[in-house]
Amino acid sequence: MRAEDILAPTPIGTFCELGSFYIDPTRPVERALITHAHSDHARAGHGAVLATEETLDLMRLRYGDNFAEATQAVRYGESVSVGGVKVTLHPAGHVLGSAQALVVANGLRVVASGDYKNVADPTCAPFELVPCDLFITEATFALPVFRHGDPRLEIAKLLHSLALFPERAHLIGAYSLGKAQRVIALLRQQGYQAPIYLHGAMERITQYYASRGVALGELRVVRGAAKSELAGTITLCPPSALSDLWARRFPDPLTAMASGWMRIRARARQYGVALPLVISDHADWDGLTSTVAATGAEDIWVTHGQEDALVHWCATRGLRARPLDITGYGDEDERDDALQTAAESDGQKNA
Ligand SMILES: [Zn+2]
Repeated sequence: MRAEDILAPTPIGTFCELGSFYIDPTRPVERALITHAHSDHARAGHGAVLATEETLDLMRLRYGDNFAEATQAVRYGESVSVGGVKVTLHPAGHVLGSAQALVVANGLRVVASGDYKNVADPTCAPFELVPCDLFITEATFALPVFRHGDPRLEIAKLLHSLALFPERAHLIGAYSLGKAQRVIALLRQQGYQAPIYLHGAMERITQYYASRGVALGELRVVRGAAKSELAGTITLCPPSALSDLWARRFPDPLTAMASGWMRIRARARQYGVALPLVISDHADWDGLTSTVAATGAEDIWVTHGQEDALVHWCATRGLRARPLDITGYGDEDERDDALQTAAESDGQKNA
């Protein structure tokens, strides 16, 4: 038996024929294992869904109680049998509840890591290195130009700007699930104690993080706040809201955005961002290559992102590597955030 007899790439996600389940399928299937709750990995409409409790809760928050016919919550490290195949989930360090899936059959170990990062994050369990024979890795930032650096320095930039412009409202564009909560937690770790304001689209997810024990301090919603109240404050909003009518309620707003893409100046300009903050929930080039090497895997499959550069790097190390052609993974949450921002704006128009 070879590793690809355990998991095989298909156009809608990797498929385990032995256990008849897909991992992060991009279309509805009978049985799905979901690595994390970002919308490009976690879709509604599957039959049975296996995931961590947090991922299932976040899917419920986004899609409603009937997002799947049946669900099974699995703890990190807990061994379960899926269609007769042994599966365990291990922390991926990407967002709350995110997991790598280890599938074991005939003594062969295959890890599908979903999205991951191997740096500290106060909002989720740290990435766990899982030795394996075949490692399936993402490649969102798989170019040597992407080195994210220390997020605390980016937060320090934001606090410095706030000290320089104490009357201006600081608006920070950040993905609603994961990034927004991480930015808030990092601000708290660096001693920022004032209330932090939230766009309505991220209210419930952020409250969920707080309910799971993530220290986020005092949070307020922007909705209903007077313009004068927002002077000198920090507000988190989806990236699409930065250029929305919604942003006009803020006094002299200064726009920031927290993303690994902020390393690229053209991206910051595209969003009209005055203060780019390089903070990413994906591994950077060094994180990807060091993780690939540390797993000990001799077969590497590379998906969603800059596949070619990482495949080439693997080849220079004598590893067998190939890109996976799965469509549908991408700039997670952008689509979701756009929809939720629109819903929020509508709600306010009607209110
Ligand atoms: Zn993700």
